[in-house]
Amino acid sequence: VDSMDSQDDPLGHSWNRQNSLAATMKEWDIPFEDLAIGDSIGKGRFGTVHKGHWHGDVAIKLLDMGNDSDNQAQLAAFRLELAMLRKTRHENLVLFMGACMKPPRLAIVTSFCKGETLYTLIHMKKDTFKINKAMIIASQVAQGMSYLHARSIIHKDLRSKNIFIDAGRVVITDFGLFHVTKICRGSKKDDWLSVPRGWLCYLAPEIIRALKALQHSNMDLPFTEKSDLYAFGTVWYELLCNEWPFRSQPCETVIWQVGCGMKQSLSTVNAPREVKDILMSCWAYQPQERPDFVQITKALERVPRTRLIRSPSHPVHLSRSTEG
Ligand code: ATP
Repeated sequence: VDSMDSQDDPLGHSWNRQNSLAATMKEWDIPFEDLAIGDSIGKGRFGTVHKGHWHGDVAIKLLDMGNDSDNQAQLAAFRLELAMLRKTRHENLVLFMGACMKPPRLAIVTSFCKGETLYTLIHMKKDTFKINKAMIIASQVAQGMSYLHARSIIHKDLRSKNIFIDAGRVVITDFGLFHVTKICRGSKKDDWLSVPRGWLCYLAPEIIRALKALQHSNMDLPFTEKSDLYAFGTVWYELLCNEWPFRSQPCETVIWQVGCGMKQSLSTVNAPREVKDILMSCWAYQPQERPDFVQITKALERVPRTRLIRSPSHPVHLSRSTEG
């Protein structure tokens, strides 16, 4: 069905894209009553996440549509985004298992991650990673991300909250779901742009420059593969420094600094030069100067292992971008 989604077949028969998509999505449609919904794990912008049971342990994201449950255009967009998720099979990506697609009961069902997020480990438990462990985590994130990009999926929300470490393996969650926020009531409380704590530092300068104060939804921001690269740079920084860049600075200051090309200084980061170079390439002001994830994976492999014992710092003074 997939290969004929949008084309005529060799005999000239027209395939109706909508019908074939509907047929494919049926395979992923989980009747809501088949889910055993357990305790709530947490609440995010999309709604509430519950632990649940559906042929084993699963995570169930219940989407809160408010009064918009009959908005057909938004439901169609939701189904299209799910159609992309079903294409993902990679050991560093959470397994998309299906969805409940009949409003008002919309839910996304994925495998349940047993471990903890990098956010919890770094910012709550204050764990620190030896540099070779940080390298392994970064490589796995890069591999999951390069797979997503090869499938033409932009994550749009890569950050430590969406990276689990499950029995030593990286599992990336929440990819491609950013636009789902537009069907969720939580994002429509008022007309002001909502800036969740620790979100700005993942936004590339071109995204920061596109933010508007009176923007109640994040759906029109110009995310690209290169903005995912920038976000990866921030995760890399968190792994190396156990904190966010621009820590403790007010939103307005971060927006101004990033928007005009300033970067967090790495002068106090105790890591080999190659490791800092990877980070700075991800944070390049111009999107086209950022590498892709295949290059990141190779660059991480090339870092000489003999230099991975935390050594005296190699200061780089890049607190002000030379490009911007
Ligand atoms: P935001 O909405 O701003 O991204 P968030 O990441 O906390 O914030 P959700 O992604 O909705 O919001 O997640 C809510 C909670 O559910 C978080 O604690 C998250 O770690 C947890 N969670 C999400 N997906 C899974 C999963 N597949 N397995 C286990 N826990 C999960």
